[in-house]
Amino acid sequence: MISLQFCGGARSVTGGNYLIDNGRSKFLLECGMQQGSPEDEKANYEDFPYDPSVIDFLIVTHAHIDHMGRVPKLVKDGFDGPIYSTPPTKDISRIALEDSVSIMKEEHSDKPPLFEMEDVNAAFDLWETVPYEEVIDIDEDISFRLREAGHILGSSIIEVWVTDHDEERKKKIVLSGDMGNVPSVLLKQYAYVEQADYVLVESVYGDRIHEDNSERTAILKQALQDTIDRNATLLIPTFAIERTQDLIYEMNNLVTNNDGSGKSLGRVGEIDVYLDSPMAIEVTKVFRKYAEYFKKEVSKQAEHDKLFDFPFFNMTSSREESMQINTAPNPKVIMAGAGMSTGGRILYHEERYLEDSQNLILFVGHQVTGTTGYAIKEGTSPIYIHGSPVKNNIEKRELDGYSGHADQSMLLEWLSGFQTEPRKVFVVQGEENASEALAHKARHILGYKTCVPRPGEVVSL
Ligand SMILES: [Zn+2]
Repeated sequence: MISLQFCGGARSVTGGNYLIDNGRSKFLLECGMQQGSPEDEKANYEDFPYDPSVIDFLIVTHAHIDHMGRVPKLVKDGFDGPIYSTPPTKDISRIALEDSVSIMKEEHSDKPPLFEMEDVNAAFDLWETVPYEEVIDIDEDISFRLREAGHILGSSIIEVWVTDHDEERKKKIVLSGDMGNVPSVLLKQYAYVEQADYVLVESVYGDRIHEDNSERTAILKQALQDTIDRNATLLIPTFAIERTQDLIYEMNNLVTNNDGSGKSLGRVGEIDVYLDSPMAIEVTKVFRKYAEYFKKEVSKQAEHDKLFDFPFFNMTSSREESMQINTAPNPKVIMAGAGMSTGGRILYHEERYLEDSQNLILFVGHQVTGTTGYAIKEGTSPIYIHGSPVKNNIEKRELDGYSGHADQSMLLEWLSGFQTEPRKVFVVQGEENASEALAHKARHILGYKTCVPRPGEVVSL
């Protein structure tokens, strides 16, 4: 018998953590942080529902905190087995976890942090990288393979083969991780899996269909052109991983008129572009290292063009460089985190540029109710930043086309790629309604047996 426990990520978007046990080995897929409400944040401090010291190994799908953010705590609590991921996932995870340590230091000065830098370092001593598409034998009982998920650089779908000693045969379990939007700006489309006994599929957008994203480049171009024509400032609150690099790549093509295909995208005039986020700058450096991970046309362009650099592009790591953006002449673009204006350097720029109706703000991701980003988008005025009121006169535009997640139709299309019907499909990593909606569709359209597991539930495979 093989048991599977949903230790996290059941009826929740965040906190993915799945324990598999075949009686001889115990291992984990994902070790994510819960994010969102104060209760979610608190839950991260609780003990794991298993003894980390008896876990043999861990496989991580990708470098988002809700999929690997508790790895240093796992190590701190006694885990000392290998951790497996693709090379970019390892590189970006280190940046994201180091960033978490600094955020926790600022936020939770009254209580001990979830983990410290020494725990992050200890985790990376255990971290091994494996390429896509190679079957890795852990021992004669267990093997796994990582496949492209198309969500962020290095993101994977996990296929794992586990021996059931009662039935004396191997069973295959597949975890989708987060699946990418199609087409991605930079990445290849997710791989299809032809066979599995059991599937765990994410459902972040399990109840939603994206708007058509074919106009995304044109909308960005128009925002750049209008900013130049008005001699104004364009603010883009952005997310450090993938969204930022998508935008830099697009601007590289729009500003230098060099998309590698010989086809003219039309060039906007000269405009200074600032990336004002230490974490996004570090992640961009990782993207520069891994051109072979991009889709064919983008990899090809990388042979003759620096994808994430162009004239007038400036990365401002230090506080001094960041301050100089204030006095730099218009027109200019400022990309900074946090993506929902919940903190970070974007707030300093919003404080300065929100009042002028000639300026533009471009929202490139969903703004959750209650965040400063949401209030700005909804036109609330004044906006209180660092305790002071700021008139919200800036022109607001939305650009939905850069979502990094597959929508309901893409998730169903991926599920339809199995050549034989899986014994069961577990729908995870989504709000309860989204998971239920995807489970319902998979049952009715594809005829699959589906289950939306409860938090902590244990099932026999
Ligand atoms: Zn993700």
